[in-house]
Amino acid sequence: MQELTADVIRASFVNADERDLEILDLPPDLMLADWFHLDFLAWRDPATRSRCYAVVELDGEPTGVVLRVAASSSRARNGICNICRTMQPGNQVTMMSARKGGEAGRREESIGTYMCADASCHQNVRIAHPLAPGEFRADVDFRIDSTARRMRDFVRRVRDAD
Ligand SMILES: [Zn+2]
Repeated sequence: MQELTADVIRASFVNADERDLEILDLPPDLMLADWFHLDFLAWRDPATRSRCYAVVELDGEPTGVVLRVAASSSRARNGICNICRTMQPGNQVTMMSARKGGEAGRREESIGTYMCADASCHQNVRIAHPLAPGEFRADVDFRIDSTARRMRDFVRRVRDAD
């Protein structure tokens, strides 16, 4: 994706109010981001752990969403992240909800999905595992592309809600 400055990231959110932007902390390693290899930027707020953020490019425009992380449940079962489709221990997949953009957001409507609790989807599909028997490089590329597409689709649904 194109390189994003702190100002561009802050201006990209489609469902943030002033209060959200006030408490937002950027990823601590933003300066080290490898933009060329990034399909999207997602991070857990380093100070406000109940917040998570994702910024994707939609039609070339950086588009971000604020996500609220559900209070951790005692659910011990494993879960699958809806973005990267990685199976995780129960406490590492969590419900995240995004207040919808525009009018719907003012009516406090939101969209939720289960996601990796540490927002590591982008890394998970790259480093999670060596190729399984019978798996090809193309499968991994497909998984990477699908993950990026699902994250874009989610952000688009939040932005275009009304
Ligand atoms: Zn994930």
